[in-house]
Amino acid sequence: MNLCLLCDKHDAMGGYLCPGCTKATVVRLECLPGLYDGLLPFLAPSTAVGQGRSGKGGPAPLPVVESILDLRGVMVGQLEDWLSAVRQERGMRGPRQGGVDGRLAGAVSGLLRNMPWIAVSWSQAGAFAEEIRDLARDVKSIVAPAVDEVRGTRVGNCQSVDVSGAICGAVLRLVPGDRVVHCDWCGMNWPPATWAQLKTWIDESPGLSHPPVIVSAP
Ligand SMILES: [Zn+2]
Ligand SMILES: [Zn+2]
Repeated sequence: MNLCLLCDKHDAMGGYLCPGCTKATVVRLECLPGLYDGLLPFLAPSTAVGQGRSGKGGPAPLPVVESILDLRGVMVGQLEDWLSAVRQERGMRGPRQGGVDGRLAGAVSGLLRNMPWIAVSWSQAGAFAEEIRDLARDVKSIVAPAVDEVRGTRVGNCQSVDVSGAICGAVLRLVPGDRVVHCDWCGMNWPPATWAQLKTWIDESPGLSHPPVIVSAP
């Protein structure tokens, strides 16, 4: 009797990870490059987005920039460590990629290539899948809070402003698989580069009770 190392359910396939947890781990790995990119606006507080918003006291100061930098480094380090553990176990060799961004993408694709073997044959699969789950969750909590992988992510209320100064306020959702939040009501697109600012505005405006502010048109 085999139990999946991640969810502890019986796995009829007899591997280390059940098909559901294998699929979930693949999806999480595939999300990591996007999440990694999504951290970028947190590194450049004042310049990324949000020109024209005349809220109280200007853009909210974005804290923890250094820890975001650390987090990006941690992501690369963890993924490369897992990949080299896989390669060592399988007697494989592979070149490391060049730049830091390329290293993250390289580690992710290397791990994805090895997922069938990891799920079926690697006794470390549980610890690996757990760490990937935690990593994806931690980064998501910063980049796109309240991610719901099943129904789509409820992001908050659309913060775009029409010519009369009214805030749209429609509920924004990030559809699974999409990289851009789209407002069905006003048509505004919110790409990942704007999410940090969007989150700040949403956090600042529970119930949309603040005075009207201006956002540049899409
Ligand atoms: Zn499982
Ligand atoms: Zn809208």
